[in-house]
Amino acid sequence: MLTGKSYIGSQLSRNETKTFKTFNPQLNAENPTVFFEATSNEVNQAVQLAAQAFKTYRNISGSQKAAFLNAVADEILKLGDILLKMYCQESGLSISRAESERERTIGHLRMFANLVQEGSWVQATIDTSEPSRVPNAKPDIRNMLMPLGPVVVFGASNFPLAYSTAGGDTVSALAAGCPVIVKSHAMHAGTGELVAAAIIQAVEKTNMPHGVFSNLNSGGIEVGQQLVKHPEVKAVGFTGSITGGRALYDLAAKREVPIPVFAEMGSINPVVILPEALRYKKEAFANTLAKSMTTGTGQFCTNPGLIIGIKNDFLDDFIVKLSEEVAKISPSCMLHPNIKAAFRKGKSKALEQDGLRTEVVYTDNVKPNYAKQMLVSVEGQFFLNNKILHEEVFGPYSIVVKCKDKNEMEMIISNLEGQLTGTIIAENNEMQNYMSIVEALQNRVGRIIFNGVPTGVEVCNAMVHGGPYPASSDSRFTAVGINAIKRWVRPFCYQNWPDYLLPDALKNENPLGLLREVDTKHTKSSILV
Ligand code: NAP
Repeated sequence: MLTGKSYIGSQLSRNETKTFKTFNPQLNAENPTVFFEATSNEVNQAVQLAAQAFKTYRNISGSQKAAFLNAVADEILKLGDILLKMYCQESGLSISRAESERERTIGHLRMFANLVQEGSWVQATIDTSEPSRVPNAKPDIRNMLMPLGPVVVFGASNFPLAYSTAGGDTVSALAAGCPVIVKSHAMHAGTGELVAAAIIQAVEKTNMPHGVFSNLNSGGIEVGQQLVKHPEVKAVGFTGSITGGRALYDLAAKREVPIPVFAEMGSINPVVILPEALRYKKEAFANTLAKSMTTGTGQFCTNPGLIIGIKNDFLDDFIVKLSEEVAKISPSCMLHPNIKAAFRKGKSKALEQDGLRTEVVYTDNVKPNYAKQMLVSVEGQFFLNNKILHEEVFGPYSIVVKCKDKNEMEMIISNLEGQLTGTIIAENNEMQNYMSIVEALQNRVGRIIFNGVPTGVEVCNAMVHGGPYPASSDSRFTAVGINAIKRWVRPFCYQNWPDYLLPDALKNENPLGLLREVDTKHTKSSILV
């Protein structure tokens, strides 16, 4: 069923002799399909087609876009076990994880279908004219959100479905009215091709313009760089490492016409445990935290990589308990030998730093590509003075920082880089004494959690998945939830424009029945003239 070719719009294409294969980390062997790297000609064709498609796609109705997104969901489901098996073969992740990620992908598609079907997301805002206003007549001003144009999407290695070919970035951009060119992730090119085929089926069944979606194979960084530099590309969505995201952000900024890069990158997700919680919750929480640290072999952007507490006997007891729980967990497979190598290197680099103490490390033999989980600890001063200890070690690794007091805890939190999440574990009666800690944490993160764990990102309207740099390149936006659509649009304004030439969203009659702001009031009513 797999061809190893790229999709340039609806056409399968293969022009290059440069090839690559994906890898099955459970079998420690290459998968059989040969994938063909997209050429610069193919990159250019895909972008030109997307630019052509944009002329039609930008004006397609919300109902038509909803039908398209729902058809993508249906076609992905039709792939059945073939997709799930391919996902497992290329990631080493379990079948149940594949199922849950597929469910999440389908959920995202249906959520955006509902959003564009209803339509009010365009935030139509109307200020009607006042011709008799003195000293100057007030013009009629109407504004709404408009799509930016072709978007390039880079998916992450650790979410072959939910943050990849038909992941949150692709789906929100298509919902906004932007054609999408996916730079397929080299580690799961087969999963990518299957999902791309499903999207192309949906394009054809719902009569979307040719070129509204393309999927380009690439085993290196050149295709992605060419895409970001292409003048017809208007925005980029990226999920991955800080190094990769920053490189693409800088590249986009150096273009003659710079474009936005919405990069969701690494994070160590601080978990702050307050003293009373340590006293009363340490046993139960150690168990919960050990699972959160190791779930998905620690390969989650929301993995709790940093645990912060104030030094006392309860913290020592908690570390012992957490170490026991971490030691009990059977090691699991990482996504790829390169990720395993990076994990090993990250642990070794951390261990070379002054003051680091190993609390527990899995020592038994493990299968190739399986990760040996590790918990380390360090005194607050060492952590404060050494930024290497703040770096993400992508995998099942966490560091406990033992602060001498509340002031040091606040200083440590204030000196952290931007993070996706922050967690407070506390008893209610101690919260009022630690509001300065809560504020310091709020300042560094995009989502704050009370008495829970950061892993498990709910897909819902209110979710924020982003945060101050480097968690994301622009903390004003989220990559998960309906507000993710706002990354791909710009506000556009009509002044004194004749009603019959306005888009339906802004017409007096309100033919789409949208909730609009008219003369500062929210209403679904039409405007009487
Ligand atoms: P990655 O190595 O940065 O790769 C992501 C994608 O970007 C790949 O397609 C890669 O292409 C491309 N790329 C990387 N560097 C590039 C460059 N300089 N120029 C052009 N393209 C480049 O990340 P990963 O290993 O896939 O993912 C793991 C990381 O993602 C972790 O740090 C994790 O925390 C983060 N992550 C973040 C989130 C979030 O929402 N914030 C979610 C999941 C994962 P090639 O594969 O061809 O090199």
